[in-house]
Amino acid sequence: HQKIEYEPYRKDFYVEVPELAKMSPEEVNVHRLDLEGIAVKGKGCPKPIKSWVQCGTSMKILSALKRHSYEKPTPIQAQAIPAIMSGRDLIGIAKTGSGKTIAFLLPMYRHIMDQRPLEEAEGPIAVIMTPTRELALQITKECKKFSKPLNLRVVCVYGGTGISEQIAELKRGAEIIVCTPGRMIDMLGANSGKPLKKKIYIYIFFFFVFVFRLVEVMRIMDNVRPDRQTVMFSATFPRAMEALARRILSKPIEVQVGGRSVVCSDVEQHVLVIEEDQKFLKLLEILGHYQEKGSVIIFVDKQEHADGLLKDLMKASYPCMSLHGGIDQYDRDSVINDFKNGACRLMVATSVAARGLDIKQLILVVNYNCPNHYEDYVHRAGRTGRAGNKGFAYTFITDEQARYAGDIIKALELSGSPVPKELEQLWLSFKNQRQAEGKSIKSSSGFSGKGFKFDETEHALAN
Ligand code: ADP
Repeated sequence: HQKIEYEPYRKDFYVEVPELAKMSPEEVNVHRLDLEGIAVKGKGCPKPIKSWVQCGTSMKILSALKRHSYEKPTPIQAQAIPAIMSGRDLIGIAKTGSGKTIAFLLPMYRHIMDQRPLEEAEGPIAVIMTPTRELALQITKECKKFSKPLNLRVVCVYGGTGISEQIAELKRGAEIIVCTPGRMIDMLGANSGKPLKKKIYIYIFFFFVFVFRLVEVMRIMDNVRPDRQTVMFSATFPRAMEALARRILSKPIEVQVGGRSVVCSDVEQHVLVIEEDQKFLKLLEILGHYQEKGSVIIFVDKQEHADGLLKDLMKASYPCMSLHGGIDQYDRDSVINDFKNGACRLMVATSVAARGLDIKQLILVVNYNCPNHYEDYVHRAGRTGRAGNKGFAYTFITDEQARYAGDIIKALELSGSPVPKELEQLWLSFKNQRQAEGKSIKSSSGFSGKGFKFDETEHALAN
């Protein structure tokens, strides 16, 4: 980096409006509480904004927001936008469906519009990195709502499909790259990084969710100018992510909405303690009840279970699709498309494959296999109940899975849902048994410092 002469650039665009300037610290505290309890760490965080006009974005963006019926900022947007607009690095934590995407998109556009226009084959100015290609595509779509009126180019860079088309697109020039880390690294390597490396104008490095591997991220980060602005967003902030944050952020502001990430109160949660061989019948019973009302995702823990359950459902005359890391990219795309447009309304999926999916008409999530840590439970349940719609989550847990009961109880409690007696019983007897054996009881939650592991095969999805 010392050899490269980077053009100077501006990061601080934020001007506080008088209405906010005159708020006292107490009023700000009350306002933050009203916004689902925003907690802020780090010095010099601006006050949360109350309306879009207060964030100092352009008319074109304001009318795009209006066109898409984004009436006012959600809590994470209200706090994160002024902080990022003032040039700060940031960690943003808010539950799924809370509008994190726009929280980093709006400041990103302000930033990009401040740069001189790109010359041919220059760019990008901003990079958005996501763990899965599905999320990358979804963010790209959200991104395009604003980039079109602003005349900016977005390229989505992900693995599994031909690299040459994506390189060609980049060569034509793009202000914004949305990517998964694996393919981004390939891109930096391809043509010895020529389309990107020599003209690296990556000023901001926007970031999303948490299943990244540190080495991969660092390889990309090493190619970005050191005085970049970097923000990270996630639904949860497990310890594993702290190390990453320390390496790539500088004096970040930390914004957390609603304390620890919780399942949205619009999701009605049920947990059933059940025998393995009773599950399928129970599933059919639940489907019978909900399927007319909207789309349904059934989560399983492994690819082979997804395919097994898919067959059983087909036999039971439920048209159904499956989504997991073993399905090739092209098919995964079409599965997601069919699911989004309602052509097929029942999907069996693994957790990682369905991470971040935003499907408005999703009425029901069934955890056919019990999630094995707190975050996974919250992410899965968070696929439904989005943008103010009501949703339902059913979780099956067997006696053998008693060790996961603690995290699920926690998730129910933190979101204000009743804890079923049988679940409490299951957890109690598990604890008693462990104690009798003289073993400790570890929570599987990332918050306890252990981090978590997905089915290894699913890791392919992040590449
Ligand atoms: P997250 O990334 O936190 O899971 P998303 O950014 O995907 O959430 O947003 C969830 C849904 O809410 C999306 O459909 C998005 O279009 C919508 N949304 C985002 N911001 C707003 C807003 N301010 N007003 C209304 N809807 C919004």
